[in-house]
Amino acid sequence: MRDNFLVFGSPLIGDAEIAEVVDSLRSGWIGTGPKVQRFERMLAEYVGVRESRCLSSCTAALILSMRALGVGPGDEVLVPAMTFIASANAVEHAGATPVLVDSVPGTGLIDLEQAQAAITPRTKAIMPVHLAGRPVDLDRLARLRDEHGLHVIEDAAHALGAQWQGRKIGAFGNLTAFSFYVTKNITTIEGGALVSEDPALAERVERLALHGLSLGAWQRFSDAGFKHYEVVEPGFKYNMTDIQAALGLHQLPMLDSWIEHRAELWRRYDAQLHGLPVATPPPAEPDTTHARHLYHVELDPDAPLTRDQLLDGLTARKIGTGVHYRGVHLHPYYRERYGLVPEQFPVATAISERTLSLPLSPKVSEADQDDVVAALTDLLA
Ligand SMILES: *Cc1c(COP(=O)(O)O)cnc(C)c1O
Repeated sequence: MRDNFLVFGSPLIGDAEIAEVVDSLRSGWIGTGPKVQRFERMLAEYVGVRESRCLSSCTAALILSMRALGVGPGDEVLVPAMTFIASANAVEHAGATPVLVDSVPGTGLIDLEQAQAAITPRTKAIMPVHLAGRPVDLDRLARLRDEHGLHVIEDAAHALGAQWQGRKIGAFGNLTAFSFYVTKNITTIEGGALVSEDPALAERVERLALHGLSLGAWQRFSDAGFKHYEVVEPGFKYNMTDIQAALGLHQLPMLDSWIEHRAELWRRYDAQLHGLPVATPPPAEPDTTHARHLYHVELDPDAPLTRDQLLDGLTARKIGTGVHYRGVHLHPYYRERYGLVPEQFPVATAISERTLSLPLSPKVSEADQDDVVAALTDLLA
């Protein structure tokens, strides 16, 4: 048995991040400032997109995207049932209706055929999620968007670094939201970003993220002289700080090598779990880069343990795991408000009940991984 608990999704923080945070603290400029701007430019360049705005979270990015696109009461937004609850909550906060769509078996991605069938005259947008870091089919998505005049907001919380046919997720002309939460592929502790090809929209997002002020606070207090601000619409308080961006500036350059490490662990899991009563994730689609954010296994129906018994057994063996996710339709708020039953979303329900995510991060070593496999074998073989 391991000596220490293997924490699921524990971030890797290097000396460069620590030094950059200290530099910010010593400089006195700890709020939104030049490091946020640098990180925004670095991110836009990495993704290959014109505009990027850093925010306090991906949730904030999703909420602001609803506001910036004018999604509101009476509108419907197609959202996968199999996602983190923030995707659906953002639609709910806009006063619009999230219309849930079931998943494709295996990948768990939103079923675009079912999404198309769910379109009504009220459908204003679709919010696909690149679940686990696997890109949704962006060609089919673009056809759906263009044929039905929909806005697309990509929830790319798992997918920074993923590619579809040689282009990064975020570079397909849609509003795209990224997360830098602690467990994501890179972290700024809390943080997120919205990227877009539209400068006017990006400017509006920046304004909405800071009370609706006509100028950012850091511009007001810079040495260029005092400037009065004007409020042109009521905004929120969703800005990122330089302390957070200080981390991002050193995390982002590591991302591609970290994805490669994740892919290596992925291949080892695929090989070592062979023979256990679990389905491993389908391989990445040709001509794509999977961001390898989550390694999901689905327990066979005739496995000797339930998923929750397996989670408990792994915890007792000092292995931290995750559940991604309990479907939106299974949470009481959504279930009761929209009268949903599990049978309406059979694939998302099966994922909710039978999958778990195994440790997969740049901090996980092959020795750690061997412990995970040994514990699983002990419990399942
Ligand atoms: C983590 C996550 C979010 C929310 O990200 P935050 O930065 O924590 O707000 C949204 N959608 C999905 C799919 C996520 O995994």
